[in-house]
Order: sequence, then C-alpha cells, then structure tokens
Amino acid sequence: MSANERTLPVHAAMDQFDRLNGQLLVGGIPLTRLAERAGQTPFYAYDRSLLEKRVATLRNALPASIKLHYAMKANPMPALVGAMARWVDGIDVASAGELKIALDAGANPQEISFAGPGKRESELRQAVAARVLVNIESIREIDLLAKISEELGCPGRVAVRVNPDFELKGSGMKMGGGPKQFGIDAEVVPDLLRTLASTGLSFEGFHLFAGSQNLNAESICDAQRQAYALAKRLAADAPVPVRFLNLGGGFGIPYFPGEKRLDLAPIAKNLADLAIQARSDFPHADLVIELGRYLVGEAGIYVARIVDRKVSRGETYFVVDGGLNHHLSASGNFGQIIRKNYPVAIGNRLDDSKETRAMVVGPLCTPLDLLADRMALADAQPGDLVVIFQSGAYGATASPHQFLGHPPPLEILV
Ligand SMILES: *Cc1c(COP(=O)(O)O)cnc(C)c1O
Repeated sequence: MSANERTLPVHAAMDQFDRLNGQLLVGGIPLTRLAERAGQTPFYAYDRSLLEKRVATLRNALPASIKLHYAMKANPMPALVGAMARWVDGIDVASAGELKIALDAGANPQEISFAGPGKRESELRQAVAARVLVNIESIREIDLLAKISEELGCPGRVAVRVNPDFELKGSGMKMGGGPKQFGIDAEVVPDLLRTLASTGLSFEGFHLFAGSQNLNAESICDAQRQAYALAKRLAADAPVPVRFLNLGGGFGIPYFPGEKRLDLAPIAKNLADLAIQARSDFPHADLVIELGRYLVGEAGIYVARIVDRKVSRGETYFVVDGGLNHHLSASGNFGQIIRKNYPVAIGNRLDDSKETRAMVVGPLCTPLDLLADRMALADAQPGDLVVIFQSGAYGATASPHQFLGHPPPLEILV
C-alpha cells in the first residue's frame, strides 16, 4: 500500500490491495481501466496473486503434514477453482454441479470429497464413477452407494460425516452439535461402522465440520481437539485403519468494524500437536482441514457503478447498478442477524479528501437492497465506482440474480 495520506476510514480489508493515483489496483490494473476491460458493471474481480499468497501464507504457518482442502461452495467460478486446484491438496464439493467444475479444473479425483445432505442417486452414481470420496450423511446413502458400487463394478470410496456432539463456539453458522441435517449423529456411528464392512464399500475415514466464520483461534483449536478425540473414539469400530481425517475448518475473515484477522499461530501449534498424536493414533491417515471463505474471501471485490445520486430529507443516496441481486451477503440478508456494513469505498476516488455520509443502495424496489448504511465515503458522483471488499466468497453464486430481472454480474479473475 502506498503511503498516501487519506482521511477516508481504513478497514483491515483494504490493506490487501494497492492503490495508485487514487485508484484501487486489482492485479496491478487501475479500477477504471479494469471496468473497461470487464466491459460492464457490476462485476466481481478476484485477484489471483492474493489468492496464491493466502494459500502460501497458510502453508507457511501450518505444519507441512496438514492437507489443505478448498471448499468450493465459497466461490465456484471455474477459472478460480482451476487456479486453486493447483495450489491446494484437494477440493470439497457439495453437488454434482460442483463436482463437474472440480473435475474440469483438473483436480485429482483421489483428493476430491463430496459432502452434503440429500445427495440424489444420480449424484452418487457420478461420484462413484468419478472415484471421488463421498462423505456419507445418512444410512440411505450407504445403501444406495453399495448398490451403485455393485452395478458399476467399483467400490465407492466413503468417509462418514459425523454430526459431532459439540459445536464450534462463537461461529457465524453452526453446522454440528444438537439435531442437524448434516452428517450422522456421533452416537449411532459405531453401529453403522460395524455394518459398513459387509457393504463392499471402501471406508476411508471421518469428516467433522462444526461451524463457519469464526475469528477466535481458541474456539477453532478447541473444536479441532474435540473432533480429533471423537474420531479417535469412533475409529475403534472402523472396519479398516483410517486414511482420511477431516477436522473441519471454520476459519473466519474480518467483515465488520472492530473485527481482527484470525491469529494463525495458536491454530498452527494445535494442529502440530494433533499431527504428532496422529502418528501413533492414525498412522495411515492424512489430516485435512477444509476452508472456503478464508482462502478466497479477501481476494475478491464487487464493483458497481453509481447511476444516480439523490438526496432524500437530508440523507444522500448513491444508487448503483447492482445490489442484493448480486451480493446478498453485503446487503445483510445472507444469514446475518444484525445488518452491518461491509467495507466499502469509492474505488476511483481513494485519495479524495472531501467525504460525505451516504447510503449506497441497489436498483431493486425493496428497502432490503442496501449495500452501505450511512457510511463516510468520498463525495462521489454518477459514473464513479463503488467497491465492496471481502467479496470473494458467498457473493455471485450466493445471490438471487433473477430477482427483479436485472442482468447478472460478471466475474473476472485478474
Ligand atoms: C460451507 C462449508 C465449508 C466452507 O465454509 P467457510 O466458512 O467458507 O470456510 C466447509 N465445509 C463444509 C462441510 C461446508 O458445508
């Protein structure tokens, strides 16, 4: 980042991107030129070098024996998955559609795993034919996979996704503990493992995922230790030695004022301890963590152009050409309990000293279409470019593009 003085609010999220002459740089390209290159607004831009840097930083911090998987539901853009597939150890998919993208991207099927409730028979057939690992989420999937394996003449590779008896404390989204549609309740897993041997399926291990978007390293360590201990108990009933132990993820990124980046040091130490224990408890197993937003979220921005500037009873509105139809999370309608502003800036006026308090709203006829609520922003005009940071995950594909019939956003990898 340049040493330019500026009066605009600084958010941790913006320090990833460089700037030149008041322009945000994405992959070295000034924002207004990037918009010309894209040929339209709104668009999402993902910075390849930031993606690569994030994977490298994580690898440097974590023990070398820990395998890193990318959970591609965070961002399934094919070009991005293609890049990630070269840098991480495996890809986690959650539908046949994602499986196709991962395979097309050149990911090694041996290192692809397929989780998610309610897998259709056709999806399970595709997974067996592709020889990827299926994280089974119900008894039904075991029966179906056994039948499919026999029909196709190749044994389905399975791991048991366990609904743990603990949760990831302080998570944005809890996905384990208590009744859940995900995985198989820990207490019924032993019986299931004893029957698995007779099904002809190839058992490989366990998948435990307790939650998402957590910024507290201690909570993450705690969940990893509990996942490990649970897997160790369950392994006693496994038909063959465990080869795959997915301890989950849940690494969060800072979205809102006051949030800090996750401290990797305690997590690295904890994983190193577990890796040492695993040498005797699971001598044949790969220890895996699966991350979505942590790998891609901070490398992406959403860019929309100001179409209109109006004042209503003293409040200034920047009306832009895309809103919650493209970026549901930034509008606060993707699982958030209280709406808070994502980091936002006028990406072609980063050096402007004159600022104004403004609302940034999209073009939809609903008050929910709010991208920034009374934020201090550069004193922008129609034609200027609004940038929403921290938009590389759960953006384009997690938004209702059809709502109100505007064109979908473009996505570019820069
Ligand atoms: C959604 C999901 C992830 C990714 O979560 P992030 O918060 O993006 O890291 C990982 N694993 C499973 C099983 C998931 O459902």
